[in-house]
Amino acid sequence: MLDQKNIKTNVPLAPYTYIKIGGPAKYFYVANSSDDIVDAVNYALNDNLNYLILGLGGNILFSDEGFDGLVIPNRASSWQINEEEKNVVAQSGVILKPFVTDLAIKGFAGLEFFANIPGSVGGAVAGNAGAYGHSISEEISWVKFIDPEGEIITENKDYFEFEYRTSRIKKGYRATILEVCFDIYPKSSEELLRQIEEDEALRKGKHPEYPSCGSFFKNISREITAGKLIEDAGLKGFKVGNAMVSDKHANFIVNTGNATAKDVKELADHIANVVKEKTGYDLEREVVYV
Ligand SMILES: Cc1cc2nc3c(=O)[nH]c(=O)nc-3n(C[C@H](O)[C@H](O)[C@H](O)COP(=O)(O)OP(=O)(O)OC[C@H]3O[C@@H](n4cnc5c(N)ncnc54)[C@H](O)[C@@H]3O)c2cc1C
Repeated sequence: MLDQKNIKTNVPLAPYTYIKIGGPAKYFYVANSSDDIVDAVNYALNDNLNYLILGLGGNILFSDEGFDGLVIPNRASSWQINEEEKNVVAQSGVILKPFVTDLAIKGFAGLEFFANIPGSVGGAVAGNAGAYGHSISEEISWVKFIDPEGEIITENKDYFEFEYRTSRIKKGYRATILEVCFDIYPKSSEELLRQIEEDEALRKGKHPEYPSCGSFFKNISREITAGKLIEDAGLKGFKVGNAMVSDKHANFIVNTGNATAKDVKELADHIANVVKEKTGYDLEREVVYV
């Protein structure tokens, strides 16, 4: 049972996102375990409340009006390596960096491409996060989740219809991920740790210092990237209010200080229109609007 005294009201969401934008959540309940998540979702379903599970806020843009319902920041963060079965079961609030680093230290590969993606396991799986031509869904064995009716079920990865940076969940199927089982395999610890470090250094050089949601639009293909199309359209540095196309990486919309969600959305629409006009390509959003 959810202890109602732990539900806060009117909590500003901006600090819980990487881009530092968003109005208040009407209700806000921090889940410290999978049981807490189940209780919170059941509470919302019973009260007919809209609800949203929040990972690290790396891929989300909350509106300036906030969220009229229950936001559930997910802090359920333990994992269990099964050496014999060559897999690891992680709770959905596990943060990728410490998790994948721990696997690397113990000499297990499979998730190293995703170590430096700012996100939780749940957020990364819901959005099929990826890097270097790899997507996290490739390593999934099964997912335990709460379905839209509140039932806890386990399904293998086919159920989630993963595609490049999307899944059935991202397309609107209301599943709340509790645990994910990933396949892993032995590899040299030094090699894995070096790979993670090199990727981190590369990201530091490439990514803007300002707050952002990461890549805003999906690439058209590995060769035709959204960043290149936006840069070639002459949009680097273009601003709406305090939202700006990063001059370091054109596929990042950055918050240069007190930008609103409205600024970001107007800028994103402008970018998509200009790119369409100049190249004929339709840019599809990677960031989730709430
Ligand atoms: C600087 C920077 C660099 C980035 N680089 C990359 C990159 O290289 N590759 C990449 O793919 N992405 C990248 N991103 C985007 C982001 O980090 C990833 O999409 C990440 O997986 C988001 O995870 P999260 O936990 O922060 O999700 P959130 O932003 O918290 O949530 C995103 C969506 O997932 C849903 N969700 C979260 N948890 C669950 C759950 N348990 N069950 C069901 N749904 C859930 C939320 O409700 C929301 O709709 C980057 C972002 C930043 C800021």
